[in-house]
Amino acid sequence: MTHIIAEPCKGTKDTACVDVCPVDCIHPTKDNPKFEDFDQLYIDPDTCIDCGLCVDECPVRAIFPEEDLPEEWSDYVQVNVDYYDQNG
Ligand code: SF4
Repeated sequence: MTHIIAEPCKGTKDTACVDVCPVDCIHPTKDNPKFEDFDQLYIDPDTCIDCGLCVDECPVRAIFPEEDLPEEWSDYVQVNVDYYDQNG
């Protein structure tokens, strides 16, 4: 199980979640030269330990435990995986 970043992050990319994640599994970070190339942030499902700390940090409530992800955003499970498949 993992946490998922969904549509509300698009255009927001607040990055408060990045600062609280204890295992640094939310990317891209602001110091990434390609930060502006992406329209949202993504959680690495292989690294996330499901601590939930990022959920309340997000000002637009874009982060959900996978089991609580609203159906309308179910595609975002794969969207998060794809980022790490394509960007390491
Ligand atoms: Fe990081 Fe915890 Fe959020 Fe997973 S649930 S992305 S480990 S802060």
